[in-house]
Amino acid sequence: MLNLILFGPPGSGKGTQSQLLIERYGLIHVSTGELLRNEISAGTPLGNEAEQFIKKGQLVPDEVVIGMLSSVLEKHPHSKGYIFDGFPRTAAQSEALDKLLALRKTAITRVLSLEVPEDELVRRLLERGKTSGRADDANKEIISARITEYHNKTIPVADHYARVGKFKKVKGNGSIEETFELLCLEIDPLVSVTA
Ligand code: AMP
Repeated sequence: MLNLILFGPPGSGKGTQSQLLIERYGLIHVSTGELLRNEISAGTPLGNEAEQFIKKGQLVPDEVVIGMLSSVLEKHPHSKGYIFDGFPRTAAQSEALDKLLALRKTAITRVLSLEVPEDELVRRLLERGKTSGRADDANKEIISARITEYHNKTIPVADHYARVGKFKKVKGNGSIEETFELLCLEIDPLVSVTA
């Protein structure tokens, strides 16, 4: 299996690049943000709980997200692999993910980290907020809270995968096409190894 984590701060292009990558490599896209937004639209208890955190730019509690992820993996037992987008976002989540994959006799192949300067992140998110309808893209304060959560809680995930030699930075501030090409340059050699 080819199991990739697309890593990076909010606004770094993880969602956009995941859409392109799943087509090229035939992987299942797992976006916890999207799953949570679906729960909110459906008005489920999980969605209602998550919304309280999301609208303030805070991370949703680990147990909520980990439970949701576990049921996604159960839904696709025969997948060629996954692209995890926006997950794991804390050290506890990365430990849970490693365990869930180990139970399936697989593991994370590579973590690809999209590197984008902070002023560009804020610019992109404010621009997206004009049309996305997402409450968490609405203003600078919430966006800044999300970036702070990333620095405080999510950076340890990068350290975790760097220690085991699975972490790779990719320049993410070019065009969508340029970034996609750089990602493919990293992933193509992994496909032949994991096939
Ligand atoms: P995203 O679409 O990945 O930018 O996620 C939007 C929001 O959903 C985040 O700001 C968090 O509030 C919440 N969220 C998404 N994924 C996670 C996660 N893995 N852990 C905790 N909260 C998450």
